[in-house]
Amino acid sequence: MKILEARITIVGAPWRELVFLELTTDTGLTGVGEVRMVNKTDTLVACIEELAPRYVIGSDPFDVERLAWNVQRAEYGRPGEVTQSALAAFDIACWDLMGQSLGVPVWKLLGGRFRDRVPAYANGWYQAEREPAAISRLAKEVVKRGYRALKLDPFGAASAELPAADRRRAEAIIAGVRDAVGPDVQILVEMHGRFTPATAVRVAAVLKPYDPEWIEEPVPPENAAALARVRNATRIPIATGERAHTIADIREFIEGGIADIVQVDLTHFGGFLAMKQLAGWAAAHYLLMAPHNVCGPVGTMANVHLAVATPNYKMLEHFNDFADLWVHDLVDHAPRVSAEDGCFGLPERPGLGIRLNHDVCRAHPRTGGRINLFEAGWEKRGVSQS
Ligand SMILES: [Mg+2]
Repeated sequence: MKILEARITIVGAPWRELVFLELTTDTGLTGVGEVRMVNKTDTLVACIEELAPRYVIGSDPFDVERLAWNVQRAEYGRPGEVTQSALAAFDIACWDLMGQSLGVPVWKLLGGRFRDRVPAYANGWYQAEREPAAISRLAKEVVKRGYRALKLDPFGAASAELPAADRRRAEAIIAGVRDAVGPDVQILVEMHGRFTPATAVRVAAVLKPYDPEWIEEPVPPENAAALARVRNATRIPIATGERAHTIADIREFIEGGIADIVQVDLTHFGGFLAMKQLAGWAAAHYLLMAPHNVCGPVGTMANVHLAVATPNYKMLEHFNDFADLWVHDLVDHAPRVSAEDGCFGLPERPGLGIRLNHDVCRAHPRTGGRINLFEAGWEKRGVSQS
């Protein structure tokens, strides 16, 4: 089996653009991958277009180790956010082709069925004023849809410090959400790398009584020693990793005992092959994975397959029930969270088990949509921000 062609389709939402890559083969199969690139769609597309003729067209989709080595080593430049995302788009589509050619779901090739249900957590649900009553009301709606975990960033556009009034407001929001969802729903507190270590520790102490499941990226993501200052000063678990792109990027955080939950994003980390390597390595340190996921249905479905076959997979982030509801219609069989238990079910069809619907994709052309988390009102995800 040889890959003959690569086709890119870009879909626009007000605050994000979804890049889909389809690879077609000489056997008549089409595999699909997806990346939602943070604010740099054109850069990603240029990278895919530059690397595809070099390493993908003419290759066998089973040869993903060679593909990864070529992108990461033969290219010589260090693999980073853009190249590892391009690699992920290739890799995901290749695994889809492998599964289709063998007539089995991708999870069968990744280790088989470890679990039947994949827990999800909700994000993108608090598109409201940063006000405790409004956000608590929305949190109740999330739980009504079956979700047993939800994430929010109650810190507005804060950067470095959090003034006392904003600290009180953040506390009131988290207290209100805890009151609304009860003691058993997991509340994940997103900090988006906003704070200095000292501020993060102070905020964590204020929020501790509301039993957060984790605090996420309390400080900017590059400096393990800075995060260790937070780790050593709070008993709340720390989640990080969405801005790591290779095992080397996250090595110090795992080996140093600084990260409790590994959030590396399948679509920014090189795809399935790299995620399985990382999962085994995290397992050696008794750590759980909760991959970051802001994708539409294809990237989300890829994560579901990975989760089915990966023992140390905690849960999967999911936006698509709350932001841009129409993205479900971009494919024929979108992954859905059950209202019964807040989980995705077991995919049964060969490969990833979904195909793009190009008519729906065409109905949502590029928007230039992006998000600035340091601009007031970003939570509303409503219109493109300049
Ligand atoms: Mg995050």
